[in-house]
Amino acid sequence: MTSPESMPAAASLDAFASSKLAGLERRQLRRRIVTTDGLDAVRVEQDGRTLLNFCSNDYLGLSRHPEVIAAAQAATARHGTGAGASRLVTGGHPLLFELEARLARFKGTKDCIVFGSGYLANLAIAPALMGAGDLILIDELAHACLFAGAQLSRARVETFRHNDLADLEARLVEMRPDARRAMILTDGVFSMDGDLAPLPGLLAIADRHDAWTLVDDAHGVGVIAGGRGSAHAFTPPALAPLQMGTLSKSLGSYGGYLCASNAVCELLRTRARPLVFTTAPAPASIAAALKALDLVETDTAMCERPALLARRFCAAAGLPAPVSPIVPVILGSASAALEASSRLREAGFLVTAIRPPTVPRGTARLRITFSAAHDEADIDRLAGLVAAYAPQQEAAE
Ligand SMILES: *Cc1c(COP(=O)(O)O)cnc(C)c1O
Repeated sequence: MTSPESMPAAASLDAFASSKLAGLERRQLRRRIVTTDGLDAVRVEQDGRTLLNFCSNDYLGLSRHPEVIAAAQAATARHGTGAGASRLVTGGHPLLFELEARLARFKGTKDCIVFGSGYLANLAIAPALMGAGDLILIDELAHACLFAGAQLSRARVETFRHNDLADLEARLVEMRPDARRAMILTDGVFSMDGDLAPLPGLLAIADRHDAWTLVDDAHGVGVIAGGRGSAHAFTPPALAPLQMGTLSKSLGSYGGYLCASNAVCELLRTRARPLVFTTAPAPASIAAALKALDLVETDTAMCERPALLARRFCAAAGLPAPVSPIVPVILGSASAALEASSRLREAGFLVTAIRPPTVPRGTARLRITFSAAHDEADIDRLAGLVAAYAPQQEAAE
């Protein structure tokens, strides 16, 4: 039998992939996925070495919590391992409806839809609401899946300068009159920088120009404002009409959601292709998220600990005080970031280098994230090592 790789078209395909890879390798932008065996909430094993994980988004360690694991196991025993089909075909298992009701209550909205992942939620929302002739304004540092959803919608997509409300308003003044509908997309907590969006001002501008705001709070729920999320970092809370998030980070599970009005959610249930044409999340993921949400709602001290540890770290390392558990140490070139990451690995810390296109060119960095399960002593040790890089960080600002 001939192998598929020996056919002429397959050979040209392989040659294409190999030359692309060689180009990425030359620019130090090739990525490799390594086997990582999680030992507990903060320790992982890679290449036979045990490392302390300082780059996970499982901020509360809930993916390892005994009650969360037990809930997932019970749901698997009761409902099976898979959902079987899209909810529009077979209906949804009761846990999904329960989680949607719980998330809506948690976010103070009338309704909620759970999706297969946060990425899928963002591929669903803008395309279901926007189309040709509409305008989407997106913060230049917003997450890749907000950009992907915006592009899929066929609306005109323009960026505004990061957290720059004057720039946002100038663009609305210029472009809004030509657009039928308008939408503003932003992270609540920026995933690679850890700063918060200026939501009260942003929502006021949105109201002045009749633009619908979608806030992606993937890194807010569970760790900002006692776990309530970035909207609650402000008084009064800054509540966007479209509040999206993930089950995959501090909730320790897998999935995504949109909390919004009943009419908006009903429209998405009918029209959103990443809901209609994909299989519903597995029962275990939904049960785990429900239990995690219980813990987030009842244990404020646990939710505050990751940001507290981040502040301790920054004080010790000579970095500016952070507002979230995400601390960027910007080093500039991809090679500098790779070098710093590999030195930390030698000392027993897993801190992955973040390079373009995840972050803009020239801003490759270490992105250090803190977990409620980390020890103070380990944090102080890491701060001592990172302090060697801190002066460069200040010079870069
Ligand atoms: C991780 C992330 C997502 C994607 O969520 P998943 O559930 O992992 O697909 C969306 N938005 C932001 C800001 C993220 O950081």
